[in-house]
This record gives sequence, structure tokens and C-alpha cells, in this order.
Amino acid sequence: MNKTFQAVTQVAHVLGYSLLTVARADLVPVDGAPPKLAATFDGRTVMVAADLPSTVRLFLAVHALGHCQQWARNPASRDVDPSDLAWAMPTGRRVALAYAQEQDANEYGLSFLARVPLCPEIETVRQHMRDDWTLFAQYLGADMTTLPIMRMFDDGRFLVRAPSLPVRIAGAFDL
Ligand SMILES: [Zn+2]
Repeated sequence: MNKTFQAVTQVAHVLGYSLLTVARADLVPVDGAPPKLAATFDGRTVMVAADLPSTVRLFLAVHALGHCQQWARNPASRDVDPSDLAWAMPTGRRVALAYAQEQDANEYGLSFLARVPLCPEIETVRQHMRDDWTLFAQYLGADMTTLPIMRMFDDGRFLVRAPSLPVRIAGAFDL
């Protein structure tokens, strides 16, 4: 197993989160999400598909742990889901909301990586974060000519313990 991934697993474990690598077929389907999930997370347990390239797996792990941080701090934020297209709002507002959430999750994700002493994959993970945002924004129907790039300044965020109960499950996709 990748050394950095292993170290992140340990950082997460100390805070009460589980980070698991599973066969893609064993990922639980997520309501309302298309199939072909690459990762799932419920606020406490993050599962990533074993067949992913190692840096994508690492990105999905820390990004999902980042979303878990959001939910641990504010469980109600789980219900703010800009990817839910049944929720009527102008596209620009949907994209702005998504940006706020994704930027936040990425900075928490980088804060997990910052607790790993040596992380040679860091620049690749940052690039995956930018690419993931671009793909997500495209899916949301964003105007790509004015799309803000994913900016990540803070990798020193305080990380909180896992909530005592899991939150509703969410999924993430391959890049
Ligand atoms: Zn996300």
C-alpha cells in the first residue's frame, strides 16, 4: 500500500475515522448518484476503490475526509447539496455554492496531508483537486469561461473528531 495513504489512514484513525480500500464492486450504491462510484463516505467511514491509480485514490481519500470534517462540524451542511439537480436554483448560484463546499473540503483534505511528514504526491493531489473541481463544475452546467479556479491556501486547519453517528452516505467519482 502507498506510504502516504497509510499515514493518512493513521491520522484519520486517531480522530475516529476509518479509511478503507475496497473492491469497486463492494462500494455501496448511493441514492441519486450515478453508478461507477470510485469512493463513498458517510461522515465516519471513507471507502475508496482499490483499482484506482494511487494518487487518485489518495486525492479521493483526503477530499472525502475533508467533506467528513464539514459534516462533523455542522451535520446540517450534509443537506446542502448543490449536485442535487432536483433542487431548483440558478446555475451560477449552484456553482458558487459547490465551489464554496469543494474549496472547503480540499483545504481540510490538505490539512490531513500536512500531518504526514513526507508527502511526495502533494502537487499531484493538488492538481487532482483542481481537475475534480473543473469536472464537477462542468457537470453542474457552469459557464467554463468564467469558472473560478480551485484555490487552496490553508493546510493547517484544525481537524475535529468523527461524529458519534454516521451521516447519510455520499459518493465520489473517478477523475
Ligand atoms: Zn467534493
